[in-house]
Amino acid sequence: PDCYREVAPLIERIEDQQARLREQNLELARADTIRRDFSANVSHEMKTPLQIISGYAEIIDQGIADEADTRTFAHIIHDEAQRMRSLIDDVLTLSRMDEPLGAEQGPVDLLDLAGSVLRRMAPVADAAEVGLRALGSPITVEANARLLDQALSNLVENAVRYSPAGSQVTVTVAKDCHPGEPGAVAEAVVSVRDEGCGIAADEQDKVFERFYRVDKSRSKETGGTGLGLAIVKHAVEQCGGTVELESTPGEGSVFRLRLPL
Ligand code: ADP
Repeated sequence: PDCYREVAPLIERIEDQQARLREQNLELARADTIRRDFSANVSHEMKTPLQIISGYAEIIDQGIADEADTRTFAHIIHDEAQRMRSLIDDVLTLSRMDEPLGAEQGPVDLLDLAGSVLRRMAPVADAAEVGLRALGSPITVEANARLLDQALSNLVENAVRYSPAGSQVTVTVAKDCHPGEPGAVAEAVVSVRDEGCGIAADEQDKVFERFYRVDKSRSKETGGTGLGLAIVKHAVEQCGGTVELESTPGEGSVFRLRLPL
């Protein structure tokens, strides 16, 4: 029994360490699966435009298409090449976000940021005949300006993309308490409200997953890659914040970026 008393704590420590190692192994396996799924998805998404490009290029090369058809095929090739470029840009954006360098935090004025994103998006919104406006007061948070700009740009781009002509997109900067936490410290909230098609309740969590699209054909028409909201989530989490969605199909959506003050 004396001997056991001495050994027992050691056995307990070894068992604890083994449990911790098992948990770490599980986490590594999960991360590995996510990475492998991601590579498979990227390859799949790249293959479709590539097949279209090489198919039409081959027809043009054979010289069997007349001038009008050749022009149509050239347009298709151009569009598909654009699609591949967007996909590569989004994949690079996602992978760059994991680099510790370039993710430094500093003071960011959210109303200034909203203004600069809206100025940049104005030509796209004008072309879609969607109104853009920013409301609220200046609020400064400690965050990475580049990542927040990326997150807000993607949300505004989506709001315009999934909205009908003649509707309005509003970005509001405000302070709020986190719901369900009485007496919680106020946080900064940047919300992007649109009057677009909205997202059904059972899709609302899934839209933040990489490559998830509610309507694949519509999304292809509008030029989406299915990575936009995954980038938003990753970017705002790198800044210590969260993103949430409230949406009613047929009425519109509100995406909220919540950031610690
Ligand atoms: P995509 O590049 O296809 O837009 P995202 O990751 O940005 O990919 O969005 C995922 C899906 O969520 C979109 O395909 C679209 O169906 C839906 N979605 C995103 N934003 C909005 C919005 N503001 N209104 C309606 N649907 C949206």
